[in-house]
Amino acid sequence: MTKKVGSTGRFGTRYGRKIRKRVLDIEVRQRQKQTCPYCKKKQVKRVATGIFRCSKCNSKFTSKAYEVA
Ligand SMILES: [Zn+2]
Repeated sequence: MTKKVGSTGRFGTRYGRKIRKRVLDIEVRQRQKQTCPYCKKKQVKRVATGIFRCSKCNSKFTSKAYEVA
């Protein structure tokens, strides 16, 4: 983690402050455990763009690109 820029530190000073902030918001959310729509447990991880898997009930489903809707 670099200062307050977090994972967007890899972009250095490029692309502008606001855009990096927006990317950081998305990256933080996509790494967090999401809530499963089937068993309601917070055990869902993002597998790929729009694909999520619940490690509790083992269901795989599609949703939004970065987080569960
Ligand atoms: Zn589940």
